[in-house]
Amino acid sequence: MPKRVIPLLLLSTVGCANPNVTPEPPSAMGPALRPPLAAPTPLSPGSSPDFDNPRIHEIVGAVSAERVERDVRRLVGFGTRHTLSDTVSNTRGIGAARRWLFGEFERMSAQCGGCLEVMYVSDIVPGESGGRVPVDVQVVNPIAIQRGRLHGDHYVLMTAHYDSRVTDPNDSASDAPGANDNASGVAGVLEVARVLSRYPTDVSIVYAPLAGEEQGLHGGRILTAYAEDNGWSIIGVLNNDVIGNTTGVTGIVDNTTVRVFAPGLPPTLEREELQRLLSAGGELDVPSRQLARRVVRIADTYLPTLDALMIYRLDRFGRGGDHSPFFNQGFTAVRITETHEDYRRQHQDVRIEDGVEYGDVPDVMDFGYLATVAGLNAAVIASLGWAPPAPEEVSISGAVLPSTTLRWSAVDAPDLLGYRLYWRRPTEPAWTQSRWLGDVTEFTLENVVIDNYFFGLAAVDRDGNESLVVFPNQ
Ligand SMILES: [Zn+2]
Repeated sequence: MPKRVIPLLLLSTVGCANPNVTPEPPSAMGPALRPPLAAPTPLSPGSSPDFDNPRIHEIVGAVSAERVERDVRRLVGFGTRHTLSDTVSNTRGIGAARRWLFGEFERMSAQCGGCLEVMYVSDIVPGESGGRVPVDVQVVNPIAIQRGRLHGDHYVLMTAHYDSRVTDPNDSASDAPGANDNASGVAGVLEVARVLSRYPTDVSIVYAPLAGEEQGLHGGRILTAYAEDNGWSIIGVLNNDVIGNTTGVTGIVDNTTVRVFAPGLPPTLEREELQRLLSAGGELDVPSRQLARRVVRIADTYLPTLDALMIYRLDRFGRGGDHSPFFNQGFTAVRITETHEDYRRQHQDVRIEDGVEYGDVPDVMDFGYLATVAGLNAAVIASLGWAPPAPEEVSISGAVLPSTTLRWSAVDAPDLLGYRLYWRRPTEPAWTQSRWLGDVTEFTLENVVIDNYFFGLAAVDRDGNESLVVFPNQ
């Protein structure tokens, strides 16, 4: 749904990069966070719960442009974060950067009574002469896990690569500030962790800066393997990469939209599953698309100055990101990226050529916009972090009948209130109609013909928190 365009000046006064800013010491937590609101009053099973949650408005409001700017400048201060750069120095190179990230998570954990499990998830990537990893290198992801209270084996991940590069992908020595690509995404991860770690969640949240992306998505692949080895049931991965710039290469300035790249059919589908999905028209309704629809709905509900634009593609044309390894293994994953990129500011040696400035430096970023996109992530993760598990074994019937019937198995969650049915015309991008069903496991929607709509089902808890929508027969 299109939104009022907010004049750029209004927003950019908050986040405009100020080259005179004095960096704070790394241990500072920035502006103080207020104590969280108490949980809302539970509803009776008969009443339809409200999707709009006051605590999520509070979470969005707690995200700070000042803190994300400080984090971006701190990361740029390591000179280069190239995956094959120095690992010994405490001031320059990827080793210093990853130890700083680890330390930031530990500091946050100390503020929430040890609520974060901070660890390195790493592996050796073997060298290959002529490739982007010419010698063996240890790719190290410093991650933090916020363990869920009710469904600890279900996970929502926020990922962002923290490595950087210049024009030559194998140049590990030159300054590679990587401010927007992708200190922006990492600052988003840190800020969301800082805010959400003060709110206990029902499912587990993983905050994951990743290395090795520019050398071939290695950090994403290593964390995907770790998730598989540990049996994580992943609700969704939000991969943030390039989220802090509002001036496009064409000169367009837009701080009111963000893209959500939502891939279609997963390559892991068996032929039989694929045929069933295709015959039901389900190729538009795979889980990654349901996650993207949730991002759009969250933006509509909680971020009045931001529209999330669904892009039905794995990624930008011919390019990749760390959500791909997850998606390629069958996990639900999307990529969040600014709408208008400036390619003179990506993967470039810092220089001036024919009067044109090149290089990924922080002074041209829009930190107010970056904080808004971080707020969107925080709201999506909170909304999924408190939601019950999605319904399973959802079947649908109604061929040659005037009405449509759904059946499903009951969701096992102590705070479950019931289920909400969604439907829409097949060419509509998002769910347009819904009905509260209460705590049942079967429902017939009278006089709505199955052939003419797509249907979906979500589980809802007593506070109105809602699972992702499930397309039947998947
Ligand atoms: Zn990137």
